Formats: sequence, structure tokens, C-alpha cells
Amino acid sequence: KTQQQGEAGYTFYSSEMNKRAKEHLRIESELRRALAGGQLLLHYQPKVSLRSGRIVGAEALIRWRHPERGMIPPGVFIPVAEETGLILDIGTWVLEEACRQIRDWKDAGLDAPPIAVNLSSRQFDRNLPHRVQEALEAYRLSPDRLKLEITETLLVRGPDQVIPIMNELVAMGLALALDDFGTGYSSLAYLKKFPINTLKIDRSFVIGLPTEENDCAIAQAIVTMGQQLRQEIVAEGVETVEQMRFLRNLGCDQLQGYLFSPPVAAAAFEQMVREGKRLQLAL
Ligand code: C2E
Ligand code: MG
Ligand code: MG
Ligand code: MG
Repeated sequence: KTQQQGEAGYTFYSSEMNKRAKEHLRIESELRRALAGGQLLLHYQPKVSLRSGRIVGAEALIRWRHPERGMIPPGVFIPVAEETGLILDIGTWVLEEACRQIRDWKDAGLDAPPIAVNLSSRQFDRNLPHRVQEALEAYRLSPDRLKLEITETLLVRGPDQVIPIMNELVAMGLALALDDFGTGYSSLAYLKKFPINTLKIDRSFVIGLPTEENDCAIAQAIVTMGQQLRQEIVAEGVETVEQMRFLRNLGCDQLQGYLFSPPVAAAAFEQMVREGKRLQLAL
């Protein structure tokens, strides 16, 4: 069968799959070496208060500095890491690296805000509280210096499996944020079962503000709901002044996005905090 015989779709598809599988294997083995060889690093993206304009937090976002291919974004390798289970080791590294950095800033006299790390659902097991505790203790940090971002895919496992672990983390003094909120299937009634402090409105709903009626309605609903559940609301991916204004008027608490800053290296984040960089709210 050749492509000219009308099987082009199939032929193309199988060779594409083959290519993808190979690419996948290559990433997996290189990623293992990257983790061991110090090629992974964290960037930090500030979260600013929509009341004061001040930096009130940051999200740690992983990067892979590849010796030949340059900086690789997490969207390329985190899914591979999740499939192979390597995400467990990477996740532990992220936790430790964030704690090490927070300690470093503290020692340098910087009044750094709490730092949020992303957790893969696969990391969310009975050992997680222990691993977090160890990282905090190793760097002598109080638990309010760290936040954990989880996604709705975790909640799908059901309350019985997830809530005991969440409660343990909360009892330790950690805050939990629900990332990419609105992209999954959790309902209001379902959501309130979980001890979650913060909702992050997914960027896909922020993009259309303030012109897309549906996005406006969704953003409004999330903020209203979050306020009722006494959760803090963070909007992610805010790029324009118009989006910022709309979200502020809704009563959204914090903003994260290119409008204020993209994720940056630790030194650049430190600089912003030292300068007291603020978001112009009077726009
Ligand atoms: P996320 O946790 O939802 O992180 C927000 C993503 O949105 C980041 O992409 C950030 O750079 C991007 N972003 C922020 N503001 C803007 C904006 O104004 N415009 C646009 N276009 N994008 C914006 P990034 O760093 O590529 O990370 C992608 C995803 O990879 C993260 O989504 C998260 O799910 C995952 N990830 C990143 N670091 C880690 C990690 O350490 N562990 C795990 N498990 N996942 C991670
Ligand atoms: Mg996140
Ligand atoms: Mg997010
Ligand atoms: Mg997102």
C-alpha cells in the first residue's frame, strides 16, 4: 500500500506515531540525565494583589536547560515525566529546590512572599506530607512559606482518597490552591468538600476578557463562588490592562500574568521584590 492508493492517512498516522514514540523515549532518557546532571531549574512568576498592587506570592515553574536545545518548557517534558513516573523524582526535586531557594533568600535578608509549587496528581500519595515535611525541615522553613498547586484531575479520584492527605497537609500549615480551575469537572457542591484555600482561574477564561460574554460570565461565576466558599481567587495569564480592570472589578484577589511579569530566574525575581515593584492599578 502506498500513499497514492488512498491509504495516505493511515501511512502518515503510523509513521507519525512511531516518530512520537521515539521522541518520547529520547526525552525520557535525556530527562533522567537532566535531573541527575543539574539541567533542571525553577523560574518564578510573581502574583500581585489587586488591592495593593504589591507582590504577594510567586509560582515556581520548572525549566529544562538542555545543553543543545536550549530552554525547554514544561509542556514538552512534564507529560512524558508523568507517563513514565519520573515525575515523582522530579517533583521531589522541585519541592527541595523551592525550599532551598526560599532559605537562600531568607539568609540574604530578602522578605520573600510564599512560593507555590505545582504538584502532579501522581505525587499525591500517602507519602507526600512526609516528603513536604522533610523538605521544610531540611531548610528550616515554616510551612506558610510554601503553597501547593493541584489540579482538578486529582479531585476526580474522589474525596475518600484525597481528603485525608489534604487534611494532613493543611494541618501541617500548608495552603492548597486549585490550578487551572474551570477546565475540569468539579461542581460547586463537590468542590466544597475539599480543604482548598485558593482557586486559580484558568488562562483560557482570562483570554477573552472583557469582550467575550461567556468568558466574562465564567470569570464572574468563579469569583462569586470562591467568595462564598471563602477562597482566595487568583487569575492566571493576565496580559492586558483591560483584563486586569475587569477582574479587579469582579473582586478577584490576585493576578498572575505577563501584564506584570513573565516567569523569571530567581535573581530577577529577587530584584523585583527588593525594588518593591508594584502593579499600576490606577490604569
Ligand atoms: P500552570 O501551573 O497553569 O502555570 C501557568 C503557565 O502559564 C506557565 O507556563 C506560565 O508561564 C504561563 N503564563 C503565565 N502568565 C501568562 C500570560 O500572561 N500569558 C501566557 N500566554 N502564559 C502565561 P509554563 O511555565 O510553560 O508551565 C506550563 C505548565 O507546566 C504549568 O501550568 C504546570 O501545569 C506545569 N508545570 C510547570 N512547572 C511544574 C512543576 O514543577 N511540576 C509539575 N508537576 N508541573 C509543572
Ligand atoms: Mg500552577
Ligand atoms: Mg495554572
Ligand atoms: Mg494553566
